[in-house]
Amino acid sequence: MPRIFSGIQPSGELHIGNYLGAVRNWVNLQHEIESFICVVDYHAITLPYVPADLRRRTHEMVVTLLAAGIDPERATLFVQSRVPEHTELAWIFNTITPLGELERQTQFKEKAARQESVAAGILNYPVLQAADILLYRADTVPVGEDQIQHLELTREVARRWNARFAEGYFPEPQPRLTPTRRIMGLDGQAKMSKSIGNTVGLLEDTAAIWDKLRPAVTDPARVRKTDPGNPDVCNIYQLHRAFSPADTIDHVAVQCRSAGWGCIECKKVLHGHMDAELVPIRRRAEELVAAPGRVHEILGDGAARARNVAQVTMREVRGFMGLD
Ligand code: SF4
Repeated sequence: MPRIFSGIQPSGELHIGNYLGAVRNWVNLQHEIESFICVVDYHAITLPYVPADLRRRTHEMVVTLLAAGIDPERATLFVQSRVPEHTELAWIFNTITPLGELERQTQFKEKAARQESVAAGILNYPVLQAADILLYRADTVPVGEDQIQHLELTREVARRWNARFAEGYFPEPQPRLTPTRRIMGLDGQAKMSKSIGNTVGLLEDTAAIWDKLRPAVTDPARVRKTDPGNPDVCNIYQLHRAFSPADTIDHVAVQCRSAGWGCIECKKVLHGHMDAELVPIRRRAEELVAAPGRVHEILGDGAARARNVAQVTMREVRGFMGLD
């Protein structure tokens, strides 16, 4: 049976870029493919952090994923550090991964350039990523276009380990591209990102979302309401494509090109469709926040299910490697 693994950092609340670019896809995939969805807290500790903040952000992320539609009856949702086999397999993969291959990773080079002293965990981060995926022998990883390169190292690790210890044991996971294109921030300049501050939080209330949408950048060539616009260069149109029904999307393009309406009108329609999708998510999040025991129980079940699979893999891996 095909199996996917998806990991997400415990960054607290999700923004709509994370939701459209990844989580909404996971929600759909959980109905057709066995899904492992992991909040990767071990990945979050490679930079200095405050333990109480990490605990809170991990809990918030789990609540937001559940509210967004991850169904614990269908998908295995768990926190990485509750399944210690992730780090055991990562160590094993570290022993067969050439240093040069890790040093060449763009992410490592960027982070290393910004810091005086770099933790070894930052260098080894892709090895842990490979262990995350291969521990479940996942054959598919849902990714955005910009993440395909990261998966190549996992495939290389699988090939190398298989060649050395057990041909064909680990699958070489294939990328499955998320259908939604890269979501730009409301500044229209860069990818939506918390660090840039151009995001809309998935759990933000109706008024707060409108306060962000109203001044958001549109087609820069459309100075007056009477100027025809080009929806293809407008980020608001991209958001319509993500949230609005097909007939509205067509209507937006016509109205924009013919200067039939102003950008504020266009944004009000978008805001209505965003609300229709996001209000139920906010309600579910409020219910889950009021029931921390339920969230705890879901995570306990998820970790137990993940561990069942992880322990079988590790038993077999140890056997192939003479570690039993
Ligand atoms: Fe963008 Fe809508 Fe304005 Fe056209 S009318 S530029 S799609 S906000």
